Amino acid sequence: MIKMTAFSCRPDERQFFEEFAKMYQIELVMTDQPPSLENVDLLKGAQAACVITTPVSGALLEQWSRMGVRLVSTRTVGFEHIDCKRATERGIAVTNATYTPNTVAEYTVMTILMAIRKMKTILIRGLGQDYSLAGIRGRELKNMTVGVVGTGRIGETVAKILSGFGCRIVAYDVFQKESVRQIASYQELDKIWEMCDLITFHTPATPETFHMVNEETLAKMKDGVVLINMARGSMFDTPALIDALERGKVGAAALDVVENEGKIYYKDFKECPVPHHEMAILGAMPNVLMTPHTAFFTDEAVSDMVECAMKSCKRLESGEDDPLRVN
Ligand code: NAD
Repeated sequence: MIKMTAFSCRPDERQFFEEFAKMYQIELVMTDQPPSLENVDLLKGAQAACVITTPVSGALLEQWSRMGVRLVSTRTVGFEHIDCKRATERGIAVTNATYTPNTVAEYTVMTILMAIRKMKTILIRGLGQDYSLAGIRGRELKNMTVGVVGTGRIGETVAKILSGFGCRIVAYDVFQKESVRQIASYQELDKIWEMCDLITFHTPATPETFHMVNEETLAKMKDGVVLINMARGSMFDTPALIDALERGKVGAAALDVVENEGKIYYKDFKECPVPHHEMAILGAMPNVLMTPHTAFFTDEAVSDMVECAMKSCKRLESGEDDPLRVN
């Protein structure tokens, strides 16, 4: 029987792991520890490692490869946390997960509406029984031009949902899709910056998308533009965003992701300061809605993420081609 070690297992995932391990006949070791050079022993006898967003470095892959690991499966869509080049050199397959794009797309549309209707302020004031109207007048989506950067699975679904609101939708992607052309007009990136009242980002973290939102591109945007990042923190230059928010250049932002979030998100900091200055500044702004990388987090997606890893493990055992392979 093929063996997999699943790292960083959360309590809410365990039931799915147990069910799918039985269904797919996989010997499973579960640990809440993230992978590290200190816990390589957890992979003893295993052919597959299952991870989430914690880094899988070249050094770790070297060690795992010596132990017989042939597959690293990440229970996430993004896979930039894995040194895929080194994995390929070591003959280790890297696979990711897929789940319905509605998970993130619905969350994106929720945060778009919350941002333009100043919901953070309304909710905070309500807790203090302040029901005044000053400063909480919002805008209607119908009258806005919305830019969708990245029209892959999630971006296209966002555009489809948004089309029901009657707003003008413009899009940018390195690959254009006919299905998106039915509801949006593709534009050059500079045009997107220039035209849009609100821009939502759905591209992967790559060298090309690194700090796509920066001092220079922010200067090209409309005054008061609303920015939505449900994709990856590295796409925004955070100090440049903070500066633009402080100047009112950016009117509001919704961020499910932020640069260097790895040591913060999914942990509880109730009893101590959060060691991330930029997050503290952004989090204190009434017009910035921050969520802790939870756009993916639904019953359906968690089940799918675990099942994807199990299926990849099974394909490794049978020698079948894996459509989820990314290296
Ligand atoms: P996808 O691969 O279907 O779509 C990505 C799109 O980006 C593709 O159409 C691709 O052509 C385009 N693209 C790539 N490089 C580009 C560039 N330089 N400029 C313009 N377009 C470019 O992926 P997806 O499933 O739609 O997911 C998109 C991203 O959302 C993921 O990469 C991941 O980082 C993020 N994500 C976040 C969460 C969350 O919980 N917040 C969950 C899932 C995914």
